[in-house]
Amino acid sequence: MVAIVKGPGVCYNGIMTRGMNKRLLAVYDRLYAALGPSHWWPGETPLEVMVGAILTQNTAWTNVEKALDRLKKEGALAVPVLHRTPEQQLAEWIRPAGYFRVKARRLKNFFRFLVDQYQGRIEVLAREDPDRLREGLLGVNGIGPETADSIMLYGLALPTFVVDAYTHRIFSRHGLVSEEADYESLRSFFMEALAPEVPLYNEYHALIVRTGKQYCRPRKPRCGECPLGNLEL
Ligand code: SF4
Repeated sequence: MVAIVKGPGVCYNGIMTRGMNKRLLAVYDRLYAALGPSHWWPGETPLEVMVGAILTQNTAWTNVEKALDRLKKEGALAVPVLHRTPEQQLAEWIRPAGYFRVKARRLKNFFRFLVDQYQGRIEVLAREDPDRLREGLLGVNGIGPETADSIMLYGLALPTFVVDAYTHRIFSRHGLVSEEADYESLRSFFMEALAPEVPLYNEYHALIVRTGKQYCRPRKPRCGECPLGNLEL
């Protein structure tokens, strides 16, 4: 964890955060105006979104869609079914998502947590105190911070900011966060600057991902075409 130092000038990992809210909203406005609404997260139900959040680790979304389609075809996209289906069978169904054995184990771990702690009811999960829920999710083997935050924000409409490699790259390239900032520092940076509004957090993360994919590549970023190319921050 990178040290966070706060004082009268408000210093965040060595970077001044005075007026950060305005700067982050300027970035958001610029991206939204250029790219339009993202309509995230694809999924018909909170359950589908949560399963998708676990399956999407290290794979393209098109592969996740194939795995979700198979689960639907098998009538398996339901908490009791996912909870009682043997891991091996589940792995077979989600094979298109890649790393299917590992992901089947993660799904089983998640559904065991949901059933043991929350009676298998998503509405009970959604009513949990967000900090407590996040802590619980992070305790599930195979659920990391990005997956936990995606489950909470996109699956349960709880206000937590999802960050990723795109977030780090874009905001460090613009000098708003440290190169060394880790996941938790980045998340806190956004959550301290922005009001905890689910629609804002939802759209902001989606816009960051789209910008990262289209323009802010690891090598040779396309700054000339990027909506943030000439934004003064
Ligand atoms: S592509 Fe360039 S302008 Fe766009 S976010 Fe990356 S560094 Fe900024």
